[in-house]
Amino acid sequence: MSLAEYRHSPYCSSGPCQLAKVQAQLKAQKQTKTALKQTVANQYQNAENAINVSAEHVLLVPANTTALSELTEERKRSFLAHLASVYQNIESSSKTDNYLYAFVTNEVTKQDIDDYQLDKACATCQGHCCLLGGTHGFQDPLSLKHNLVYIEKLLEKEVSLTELLSLFSRYFPHSTSKLGCVFQGEMGCTLPTSLRSLTCNRFFCKEIVEFTRDQQNKTPFSAKVAAIADNEIIRTQIH
Ligand code: SF4
Ligand code: SF4
Repeated sequence: MSLAEYRHSPYCSSGPCQLAKVQAQLKAQKQTKTALKQTVANQYQNAENAINVSAEHVLLVPANTTALSELTEERKRSFLAHLASVYQNIESSSKTDNYLYAFVTNEVTKQDIDDYQLDKACATCQGHCCLLGGTHGFQDPLSLKHNLVYIEKLLEKEVSLTELLSLFSRYFPHSTSKLGCVFQGEMGCTLPTSLRSLTCNRFFCKEIVEFTRDQQNKTPFSAKVAAIADNEIIRTQIH
């Protein structure tokens, strides 16, 4: 490695050097997160109604920092077209072509989350993962098939495509996270859980999964949540 190359980066392109580079980056990320957790713990300890929180009780989740904007008619139409195509897919085939979820079992369950009182995590984050919902809301044949069984049982009749589209249309919020899911309103998801996709109802982000996994076999405690972006604390847990 020449001096000029070393000045640019102390890591050359060889395998061991690149591995060392990745390890150094991971170590730096870990140190940053540990420092952020300690900052959050200190905030609780120094608050007027001080609570003794240790850094290991702090869960860092990503923060949705996207501004709200009016949900356009075009985005609504786009979602309804997607939903119609999923409905028609179910109607036209006896078996679903999306069977993957049948084998998915999330390693972290709702019970685990409750044990560590992480129910405020998503409210603090404000739906970072929902930004991926776009104009499909993760609606797929298996989810809709599953939800239709419930809806039709409740209504004691079959639901037509027009009725289905009208049902979902009732839940469009006025404003959504810009380019996020069409149901990502100011106060979170506007769809009832019985209409959300299996992905929406089962998904936990890696931050929640790793935190819960790390805590297993320890006495459950009330975790404190902070949402971060670009290594800055954007929001701490909403009580
Ligand atoms: S699962 Fe994770 S990324 Fe999604 S809303 Fe909850 S805390 Fe945020
Ligand atoms: S339907 Fe609700 S839970 Fe699912 S991605 Fe959209 S806002 Fe998130």
